[in-house]
Amino acid sequence: MFLALPVPPLPLQDETLLFEPTAPHDDALSVVFAFPNEYSVGITSLGYQVVWATLARRADLRVSRLFTDGHEPLPSWVDVLGFSLSWELDYGNLLTLLEQLDIPIMAGDRDADHPLVFGGGPVLTANPEPFADFFDIILLGDGETLLDDFCDALVDLKPASRTETLRRLARVPGVYVPSLYAVSYDSPTGGVRAIHPVDVDIPATVQKQTYRGNVLSASTVVTPHAAWENIFMVEVVRSCPEMCRFCLASYLTLPFRTASLDDSLIPAIEQGLSVTNRLGLLGASVTQHPEFATLLDYLNRPQFDDVRLSIASVRTNTVTPELAATLTRHDTRSITIAIESGSERVRQIVNKKLETDDIEQAAINAKAGGLSAMKLYGMAGIPGETQADLEQTVALMLRLKKATPGLRLTLGCSTFVPKAHTPFQWCGVNREAEKRLQYLQKHLRSKGIDFRPESYNWSVIQALISRGDRRLGPVLERARHYGDSLGSYRRAFKDFQGQIPPLEYYVHADWALDQPLPWDHLLGPLPKATLQKHFEAAGVGAVVV
Ligand code: SF4
Repeated sequence: MFLALPVPPLPLQDETLLFEPTAPHDDALSVVFAFPNEYSVGITSLGYQVVWATLARRADLRVSRLFTDGHEPLPSWVDVLGFSLSWELDYGNLLTLLEQLDIPIMAGDRDADHPLVFGGGPVLTANPEPFADFFDIILLGDGETLLDDFCDALVDLKPASRTETLRRLARVPGVYVPSLYAVSYDSPTGGVRAIHPVDVDIPATVQKQTYRGNVLSASTVVTPHAAWENIFMVEVVRSCPEMCRFCLASYLTLPFRTASLDDSLIPAIEQGLSVTNRLGLLGASVTQHPEFATLLDYLNRPQFDDVRLSIASVRTNTVTPELAATLTRHDTRSITIAIESGSERVRQIVNKKLETDDIEQAAINAKAGGLSAMKLYGMAGIPGETQADLEQTVALMLRLKKATPGLRLTLGCSTFVPKAHTPFQWCGVNREAEKRLQYLQKHLRSKGIDFRPESYNWSVIQALISRGDRRLGPVLERARHYGDSLGSYRRAFKDFQGQIPPLEYYVHADWALDQPLPWDHLLGPLPKATLQKHFEAAGVGAVVV
């Protein structure tokens, strides 16, 4: 196999590495590790950086990086091709890269002349089934131990046949080989009936892997060509203890873990700030780190006065004047909080433990700390939401405007999308959600509040992928030739009419609690019975087909 992609080289000379790559042995496995988007996007993904560094530290692997707009020198023969998939719609670029590399896009069409194609990352860990046809291997969960276990097995199996390699890899915890699981359906257009391994020596289920150490991830490279120029990123927490019932960032990655200040965060930050002055604190719920106040004190030392600080997410009732003042001091003007809804009733439905007074206090504190803007995030179409709840969202924004004159307020709003492994995985997208976004837009913009709705059509595509089964592989492959609009997906569904369920089934239908789910053989942190209890606790009624 000869790899000759007509793409320009990467601006590697501008990268500052924060780890020591190891020179590969002569007989090292050759690995291409790809990100199916541009270099600037891929190199800004902490997950991609960390996996690449893990591979590059091993003397038994020779790794080259590949992006859609550039690559490192590629070997003439590739043993393994890996993809990190962070955004659902990047699957189109992934398929294009496979074509450019002359690799069949369907795993079933590959043979000994082709590399093993593996994938990992948040999209695949959530629900890999729509993409199952494209991968020989999918890695589920935290990479810390999983990746080395996977690579050790690959190296050991180098002399083995492709079939033998896949069967042996399927026994490594967290390694999912889709072709070794058979799915049956109630009918061509019905739901999943059962999922079974093809053989008795293949595990019946695959457990997503959870790392339990207290040293979390940090950037392995800093570059001016990243989407966030020269940013050094450090993971402060992993998962979120709040467990809002729709939230993948919490439910898929439980339990909540925090980086040790002394063993992980401070050494990493010191290393990062020795090469750049831009720092990103990452995690689903950064301010819930038990020593967050100490971390802020540390960052407020005079030697860090010129550091530009970005914080990924802030729990509303942790927005103190001190936090706001620290952000202001470090060149941040705005803070973002997720409120989900202005209605306390809806916040209870989703298990968001947040009072309206807390939201107002957060805005007051943000202003008192010197910030000039606050962005709030909400959702339309949450299960159980009514028109009266929307009116309360409008009322809340007006109340905030009155309480904090001069603070620029923005409400960003998406549509509720069900996600696998969360208590709301059974709930369909509300057909009224688009109208509800329009209602909020009309009533907020007329009052001078900046309202930014996310595309409803994009939410529909997200829902399709998040609840899809492996019958979607050919549909996704077809849709990418038609474009990336919702119309392209509708057209592709039309092509397969009668052979698969309609788009409506995946996106809008409520699914029965006892119905087998496409991902039932892939175990997340909580058992399905617990998710059912959490769903029932929401009090939005029984879900039926
Ligand atoms: S607080 Fe935010 S990150 Fe945490 S569970 Fe709720 S939505 Fe998810």
